[in-house]
Amino acid sequence: MGKITGFMEFQRQEEGHQEPAARLKHYKEFSIVLTDEQAKVQGARCMDCGIPFCNSACPVNNIIPDWNDLVYHGRYHEALDTLHSTNNFPEFTGRICPAPCETGCTLGINNDPVGIKSIEHKIADTGWEHGWVVPQPAAVKTGKKIAVIGSGPAGLAAAQQLARVGHSVTVFEKSDRLGGLLRYGIPDFKLDKSLIDRRVEQMKAEGVEFRTSVLIGKDFPATVNNFAKETIFPEDLDAEFDAVIMAGGAEQPRDLPVPGRELKGVHFAMDFLPQQNKVNAGDKLKDQIKATGKHVVVIGGGDTGSDCVGTSNRQGAASVTQFELMPMPPEHENKPLVWPYWPTKLRTSSSHEEGCERDWAVATKRLEGKGGKVEKLIACRVEWKDGKMTEVPNSEFELKADLVLLAMGFVSPVQQVLDAFNVDKDQRGNARATTDGEGCYRTSVPKVFAAGDMRRGQSLVVWAIREGRQCAREVDLFLMGASVLPR
Ligand SMILES: Cc1cc2nc3c(=O)[nH]c(=O)nc-3n(C[C@H](O)[C@H](O)[C@H](O)COP(=O)(O)OP(=O)(O)OC[C@H]3O[C@@H](n4cnc5c(N)ncnc54)[C@H](O)[C@@H]3O)c2cc1C
Ligand code: SF4
Repeated sequence: MGKITGFMEFQRQEEGHQEPAARLKHYKEFSIVLTDEQAKVQGARCMDCGIPFCNSACPVNNIIPDWNDLVYHGRYHEALDTLHSTNNFPEFTGRICPAPCETGCTLGINNDPVGIKSIEHKIADTGWEHGWVVPQPAAVKTGKKIAVIGSGPAGLAAAQQLARVGHSVTVFEKSDRLGGLLRYGIPDFKLDKSLIDRRVEQMKAEGVEFRTSVLIGKDFPATVNNFAKETIFPEDLDAEFDAVIMAGGAEQPRDLPVPGRELKGVHFAMDFLPQQNKVNAGDKLKDQIKATGKHVVVIGGGDTGSDCVGTSNRQGAASVTQFELMPMPPEHENKPLVWPYWPTKLRTSSSHEEGCERDWAVATKRLEGKGGKVEKLIACRVEWKDGKMTEVPNSEFELKADLVLLAMGFVSPVQQVLDAFNVDKDQRGNARATTDGEGCYRTSVPKVFAAGDMRRGQSLVVWAIREGRQCAREVDLFLMGASVLPR
C-alpha cells in the first residue's frame, strides 16, 4: 500500500478528454493519459484492502493492488511486468475495457473507486514509450504446429502464449488486416490501430506466422464480413497441424425482421463501422455507407450502438437517435445490493456525450420509404412486466430516418464455420467447450479447441484475452503433457 492515508486524502481523477467539438473533427483517440504525478496520486488511493475484489472482478485477474503500489513509488517497469504477467495486451484493455474491476473496488462501497483502468493505461503506455515491451522468443522449439483461426484478442493472446513456449503458431484471418473486432468494429477514436500493428510486430519477432485473407471453412454466408481471397478446408488443417484453436468470434448479427427491412439505407452496424476503420487506414471504398447530412436511427442501446453514434456524428449526421427495447435503467445502482458485481445502471459513453437523442422501451414496427430507400421508421412504446413485453396502446410514432443502423447484438458465431469443423454446439449455437477441469477448452472434435466469443458468445475484449490465455495452457498440456503457462 503506497500511502496509508491516500484513500482519505485524495479524490478520484478521471482521464481528461479533448472537448467534443474538437474531437468530432477527427477519428483519433481523444483521452489524455494521466501524468506521472496524477497516476501517483491515483495509485495512492488504493487501500490494499486485503481481499482484493478488484482482482477477482477482473476477468484476467490483474494483480491490481500490486501495480497500484508500484505506480505510487514510480516503479513503472516492475508495474508493467506485473501487468503483463496476467494480461498480454494491457494497452487495449487500458483503453476499451468497461472496467468491471472498478465496480468491485472496496473503496467504491462508500466513495469513488480507484481509477484502475486509467492506471493500467498509464503503465502500458509508459512501457511502450520506454521501449520495455520487447519480443520474448522461446529459447527452444518444440516442433509442434498449432493453427489459430481468427486474429481477435482471443486468437492473439493464445498465439502469443503458445509461441513463447516454443510452439510454431500460424494465425489464419479471413480479413485483410489483423486484430478481429479490435481492428474492424471498434472505432479508431476508441483504439488507435497502430497499437495492434506494433503488437503484431512483437509477435512476428516471437515466431508467430500470420496469414491474412484466408478463410478456414466453407459455405460462408454473404451477410458477414469476409475479405478472404483463399479458402482452406478444416480437413487440410488437420493434416498439417497438431492442434487447432477456433477463435473466430461471434459474428452472426441479430436481424430486425420487420416490414421494410429490405429498404436501401438499412444496414447492420458491422457493415457500417468497419468501412470507416478501412477509410481511416487509407483504403478507398466505393459506395461507403455514410451518415453525412442524414437523420440516423441506431437500433440497439449497447456498445456497438454507441460506436455507431460516435461514427455518425464524426461523419456529420443531421441527427442521431438511439433506441433501446429495454426500459431505461436506474442512474445509480443500489450499491449494498450489487457490490462487488457489475450493476445494471445507465451508462453514458463518450459518444453519447458528443450528441445523441436516446430513448428506451421503444420497439420498431416497420420501416417505410420511397423508391426503395428508407425515409422513416414507425415505432411504438412498450411496457415490460414479468419479463414479457407488451405494446403501449396508441403509442405509435414515426421518425425521419435516412440511415438505420442495426446494432442489436450478435446471436452466435457463424454456424457454417462450426459446421465445417463438425463441432458440437451449446444451446446458443456457440462452440461447446468447458472452461474448467480436465479437457477444458476442447471441442467435441479431437485436437480442436475453442476460445473467446466463438465459445462464450458475444462478450468483451478482456474475456477474450482470458480465454485465449487459458486455452493456450490447455493446448500446451495436450501437446506436451505439462505446461508452465499460467491459467
Ligand atoms: C462494434 C463493437 C464494439 C465493441 N467495443 C468493445 C469495447 O469497447 N470493449 C470491449 O471490451 N469489448 C468490445 N466489443 C466486444 C469485443 O470486441 C469482442 O468481445 C472481442 O473482440 C472478441 O474477441 P475474439 O477474439 O473472440 O473475436 P473477434 O474479435 O470477433 O475476432 C474474430 C476474428 O476471427 C476471424 N474469423 C472468423 N471466422 C473465421 C474463419 N472461418 N477463418 C478465418 N478467420 C475467421 C474474424 O474475421 C475476426 O477477425 C465490441 C464489439 C463490437 C462489435
Ligand atoms: S483488464 Fe479491465 S477489468 Fe481488468 S484491471 Fe484492466 S480495466 Fe479492470
